[in-house]
Amino acid sequence: MEQNKKRPNIISRMPAGFLSLSRPVMIGIAIVCIVSAIGITIMRSSGGRGIEDLPRGTMMWVKCANRECGAEYEIDQVDYFLFMEEHEGEVEEDGEGEEIAIPMVCEKCGKQSVYKAIKCENPECGEVFFAGTVPEDFEDRCPECGFSKIEDMRKRARSGRQR
Ligand SMILES: [Zn+2]
Ligand SMILES: [Zn+2]
Repeated sequence: MEQNKKRPNIISRMPAGFLSLSRPVMIGIAIVCIVSAIGITIMRSSGGRGIEDLPRGTMMWVKCANRECGAEYEIDQVDYFLFMEEHEGEVEEDGEGEEIAIPMVCEKCGKQSVYKAIKCENPECGEVFFAGTVPEDFEDRCPECGFSKIEDMRKRARSGRQR
């Protein structure tokens, strides 16, 4: 009979002790959670304002991946950032299983197939191509003439240091 009385006692004492000990800890965790949630919300909303506050006028190249279209045109970088923010986390896989941002809708053919592109800065070339066209190379390596602004800038930096 004594054993029967003891058993529920032990069981009930355990959770009671556990709860009273951990209550301040739990409150602490809850406060940390609330504070960080508020922080993230503030950061998110201010981040949104940040993009809209960016000065417009910086253009960037985009290109349509629809082979029947192939449109190449410039858009405002701010619009691109806004699109990226709006579709944050929405990705699709390219042929090699790498995740890439979802494409924008083409102004010309109306299909969702416009990606960020790079215009070759070689004045004699001017090709517009998708970033990373040349595999395992600088992402801005022109598939047409082989010019890469990143490479060019690094070369200049190196020769600048030698002087
Ligand atoms: Zn198109
Ligand atoms: Zn080129």
